[in-house]
Amino acid sequence: MRINILVSIAPLKHVESDGVGDILLTINNVSKQFSHIEALKNVNLTLNRGDIVGLVGGNGAGKTTLLRLMCGLYHPTTGQVLFHRDSSQAPVAEMRRFLGVVPEATGLYYRLTAWENIRYHSRLHGISDEECWKNTLEIAKDLDFVESLGRPTRGFSKGMRQKAAIIRALAHKPEILLLDEPTGGLDVTSARMVRSLVKRMGQAGGTVIYSTHKLAEAEQVCDRIIIIHNGEVRADGSPSELLDITQTTSLEEAYVKLTMDAARETEKEDVEGRIAKFWRRMMTPRKLPEGGGEDE
Ligand code: ATP
Repeated sequence: MRINILVSIAPLKHVESDGVGDILLTINNVSKQFSHIEALKNVNLTLNRGDIVGLVGGNGAGKTTLLRLMCGLYHPTTGQVLFHRDSSQAPVAEMRRFLGVVPEATGLYYRLTAWENIRYHSRLHGISDEECWKNTLEIAKDLDFVESLGRPTRGFSKGMRQKAAIIRALAHKPEILLLDEPTGGLDVTSARMVRSLVKRMGQAGGTVIYSTHKLAEAEQVCDRIIIIHNGEVRADGSPSELLDITQTTSLEEAYVKLTMDAARETEKEDVEGRIAKFWRRMMTPRKLPEGGGEDE
């Protein structure tokens, strides 16, 4: 039996919004399967306007898969991801213009300058160049990036690419910002800049999903933390709620407790049986995928 410590919480923040409901996104009974891998198992979540949510989990926990489902890049194997707007709802893939996404691999066009990348993306969203420039400058000042806007991105460091991708994601003023490991590879100062940008967005009523391995960072930036482990949402609540349900005094202890439970349960399963099954799969000749790209 799996122990699922899932706290359901009321909306953490209520931002008045001209009669528009508080719920922005719902994830209903979503599972995602890649061949024999169950990357997500029966996930249910509600994202409210104004939430700054930390999505925390270890390697392979399912964070990126969940983010990709939230921005409509993947279709769920079962379940639905719905975007809510003006009292109606639609599959998130049809509402991408309301999302800003900073993926782990930034996907910039290297022959273009940072500004050209940002402008190209905003044009696809139907934003005028003037408006895009105004929004770009505002964010670039916060990230100390104005001087770099005119440079081709080919020579950019990882941190510079990350900042360009953040501006690109925000220049069309999305309703939700999704960030996948936004401070990975950033120096201390740049990471601080990104964190304070996200915090300011929260104070201004923005909505952010912040995927990270770093619990301390999630605690600093987010008012709600979702712990994901082995494709399952193990807990969802404010930092203090996570401490309460786990009866711990630090988030690190809470995280270990929430994820250890799952690990112990897994250990109790038939280990020998699983190894035998794995061995049979490894020994079965496999047809290689067609045109499968280059090896690293
Ligand atoms: P990390 O922090 O290491 O980036 P993550 O929490 O983002 O991990 P995911 O990338 O969502 O984890 O992966 C969850 C599981 O799904 C892993 O077992 C991964 O190998 C598998 N997976 C993800 N994408 C694919 C894919 N396109 N094809 C096959 N398996 C996949």
